[in-house]
Amino acid sequence: MPEACTFCRIVRNEEEASRVYEDENVVAFLDDRPANEGHTLVIPKEHYEDIYEIPDEQIAYLFKIVKKVAQAVAESEKADGISIVQNNGEAAHQNIFHFHVHIVPRYEGQESRRPREIVSQSELDLVAAKIRKHL
Ligand code: ZN
Repeated sequence: MPEACTFCRIVRNEEEASRVYEDENVVAFLDDRPANEGHTLVIPKEHYEDIYEIPDEQIAYLFKIVKKVAQAVAESEKADGISIVQNNGEAAHQNIFHFHVHIVPRYEGQESRRPREIVSQSELDLVAAKIRKHL
């Protein structure tokens, strides 16, 4: 696990994150610059840079969890829709080079590109607790 990787630091509990789900292989936590409330990231605990590095069995398992968490986020946030986004490479706006999948609640009539501001840990913790009730 690379020392400097923010997501590896979250896995090791060296950095705070509002966890929505965790098991042996996967962690899901809230993005601290959410596109909408409930914007969740799902990552493998092991460090893989992108979709080309993560082994088939791991990505298959991870997407089972993505499905489960997406359903919980949709219910909890009363979303009209959910976007599942996964970026690879700088040209695709990947900014943390530890494989991750975004789960973003969407609403009818809402602009898709809105400014994303940092949300406090305490606020995120409340949202995470709300989502966990739907898991
Ligand atoms: Zn990492």
